[in-house]
Amino acid sequence: EPVSQLVDAVSHYQEGAAAVSRIAAVERLSTEPPARQSGVLPGQGAAVAGPASVRFEDVSFRYRPGLPYIHRQVSFEVPGAGMTAFVGPSGAGKSTVFALIERFYEAGGGRVMVDGKDVQEWSLSELRSAIGYVEQDAPVLAGTLRENLVFAAPRATDDEIRDVLARTKLDTLVERLPHGLDTPVGHRGSQLSGGERQRIAIARALLRRPRLLLLDEATSQLDAVNELALRDVVAEVARETTVLVVAHRLSTVTGADRIIVMDTGRVRAVGTHEELVAQDRLYAQLAATQLLTPTR
Ligand code: ADP
Ligand code: MG
Repeated sequence: EPVSQLVDAVSHYQEGAAAVSRIAAVERLSTEPPARQSGVLPGQGAAVAGPASVRFEDVSFRYRPGLPYIHRQVSFEVPGAGMTAFVGPSGAGKSTVFALIERFYEAGGGRVMVDGKDVQEWSLSELRSAIGYVEQDAPVLAGTLRENLVFAAPRATDDEIRDVLARTKLDTLVERLPHGLDTPVGHRGSQLSGGERQRIAIARALLRRPRLLLLDEATSQLDAVNELALRDVVAEVARETTVLVVAHRLSTVTGADRIIVMDTGRVRAVGTHEELVAQDRLYAQLAATQLLTPTR
C-alpha cells in the first residue's frame, strides 16, 4: 500500500510540474501590440452603441513571410445590422476575415475598418469588447451551464441570462436539466447535442452585448431541428447587431441580407441568394449541393 501511494504521489508530482511549466510558458508570452497613435485618447469613443459596420479595403494578407497570400486585395462593405454570409470552398480565406477583424493578425496591405476606423487604431480591449466571436468548435467546458454562460460576462444578471436563453431557444433545455442552470454539463459539454453546444456559445457571446457577432458555423453535428433553431436565433440577433457568418449550409444563406462569395483569397461576387444563383457560376454550383464548403 505505501509503495503504491508513493508511486501515485510521484505521478501527481510529474503532472503538476508539467502544468506549472506550461503556465510559465504562457506568462512569458509577449503582450499584444498597442493601438497605433491616432490622436484619439484611450477610452474616447468607447461609448458608441448600436451595430458596428465593417469594411475591407484592398486587404492583402499572409500568415507568414514566404507563405502564399491568403487574401489578395479583398474588399467588401457591411453596413451596421443585418446578416452577411461568407461562402466559398474550404481554404478560401473566410475564417481569416474574422481573424483580421478581431486583429489576431495584422493585414499586410490595405485596411480593415470597423465603424470607419482602422482596427489598428482601436485599442484591443475596446475592439474585442465590441465583438462576439463564436468559433467553429466553440468550447463548452466542464462546470455548470451557468458557469459556461457567464465566464466572459461575470456581471450578467439573472434577468439578462433568462432573456438570452429565450432568444437562443435554450430555455427548454434549461427546463429539462435536473438542476436547471446549475446542472453540470459535463466535460466539454458531452451531455449536450452539437446544436445545443453551439447555441450555448452564441448565448455566451450575446451576454457580452456585442455590436458585431462573428459566427463561424459548424459544418457537422447540427440536425434539422437544431439547425432551424439556430437559423431563427441568428435572424433575430441580426435585427440589432451586425452578424457575419461563415456559412456552410444553404439554409443559413438563403435568408442573409447579403452573401459574399470568396474563392482563393478573393471576393468573387456579392449579392442575395437569388442574384447569385442567377449570376455566379461557383455560387450556383455550391447552392446546388446544399453544402457550401466543399474541400478542394
Ligand atoms: P476558410 O475559412 O475559407 O476555409 P481559412 O481562412 O481558415 O479558410 O484559411 C485560408 C488558408 O489559410 C488555408 O489554406 C489555411 O490552411 C491557411 N491558414 C489558416 N490559418 C493559418 C495559420 N494560423 N497559419 C498558416 N496558415 C493558415
Ligand atoms: Mg474556416
